Parts: sequence; C-alpha cells; structure tokens
Amino acid sequence: MAESDPRWWRKITNPMLPRAADFAPRLFARSTMFATIVEDLPYSHNRITLDKNAPNGMRFEYEYTKELKWRNAYFRKRVRDTLSRKHRVRVLTGRNNINFGHVCGTCKFGDDPATSVLDSTNRAHDLENLYVVDASFFPSSSGTNPSLTVAANALRVADNM
Ligand SMILES: Cc1cc2nc3c(=O)[nH]c(=O)nc-3n(C[C@H](O)[C@H](O)[C@H](O)COP(=O)(O)OP(=O)(O)OC[C@H]3O[C@@H](n4cnc5c(N)ncnc54)[C@H](O)[C@@H]3O)c2cc1C
Repeated sequence: MAESDPRWWRKITNPMLPRAADFAPRLFARSTMFATIVEDLPYSHNRITLDKNAPNGMRFEYEYTKELKWRNAYFRKRVRDTLSRKHRVRVLTGRNNINFGHVCGTCKFGDDPATSVLDSTNRAHDLENLYVVDASFFPSSSGTNPSLTVAANALRVADNM
C-alpha cells in the first residue's frame, strides 16, 4: 500500500497547482530569464588526485575561493545595474551555485611540460602518439558553454594531424 504524504498542506495546495500553471505564463509573459556563468580560474589546488582509500581510487578537491565569490557577486551586480536602467530586475540565484556541469582542465594544454599535460596541438608532452581532445584540454573554464569549443578544437587538432 502506498504511504500517505506527511506534508498535509499538499492536500490544499496541490489542487491549486494547475491554476497557478495556467496563470504564470500570463503573469510572466513579458519577463526574460538569464542564466550567468563566470570563468573558473585554473587554480592548481582544484584538482583530482589518486587516493587508493577512495571508493573509485580518486579524490576530488575543490575550493570555492573568496576571489570567485567576489567575481560572482560583482558580475551579478553589473548585470543588474545595467538592466535595471530600463527594466525591473530580480536576482533569483542562490548564494552558492557551484555545479559540475562544465568540468574541464584535467589535461590542460600549454607550452610548459611542468605545468601542462598537452602541448598546443593537444599532443601529450610525454607521448608522441597520444592526443586528448575532450574538455580536459581547457587551461581555464572560459565562462561560456564549452561544447562548441570542444568540438571546434577537436576539428583543429584533426586537421593538424
Ligand atoms: C546538465 C548539463 C548541462 C550542460 N549544458 C551545456 C550547454 O547547454 N552547453 C554546452 O556547451 N555545454 C553544456 N554542458 C557541458 C558539456 O556537456 C560538456 O562540457 C561536454 O560534453 C564535455 O565534452 P567531453 O567530450 O569532454 O566529455 P563528455 O561529453 O562527458 O564525453 C566523455 C565520454 O567519455 C566516455 N568515457 C568516460 N570514461 C571512459 C572510459 N574509461 N573509457 C571509455 N570511455 C569513457 C563517456 O562515456 C563519454 O561518452 C552541460 C553539461 C551538463 C552535465
């Protein structure tokens, strides 16, 4: 037998949801929603390390730095200040919106083998016949959606090969 929902107020609010869903598009018809992304700089302390005690043999280390928090807040302020000259602006985001949808940088490219895994043609510094062309080559997160850059770079690398 299905358990009853402990949230008693749902019995009152649930029947109202379809009406709210009908009404919302009219209420927000002239609204536009923006999502923002900021660049995540390539700090060496943000990384994946090997750890034989971890369940999958790897440990993920990430610090949400003060500098990044500041840039996030500043970026939102600039967007709000610019748009609010002509529009009513509401910032809906949470304080910590970190997510791992755009993971990158684990095999970053660069000229120095001491600080990068791949050279500028995406070939491994240490192996002549190994090229890596996924999002791991990014030296920095770029602050935009990465898929098209990943694809464009893969084509560039293929041309070079
Ligand atoms: C929810 C979400 C929304 C996103 N939205 C956008 C967006 O709107 N625009 C945008 O540009 N980007 C978006 N991204 C990011 C984008 O999807 C990734 O940056 C991009 O797919 C990275 O490409 P990739 O080739 O590096 O990795 P992936 O696309 O993850 O490809 C990795 C591949 O390797 C395979 N693989 C993994 N391990 C092994 C193994 N050991 N052996 C063999 N194969 C293996 C996996 O099965 C997978 O097919 C989004 C990501 C998420 C999670």
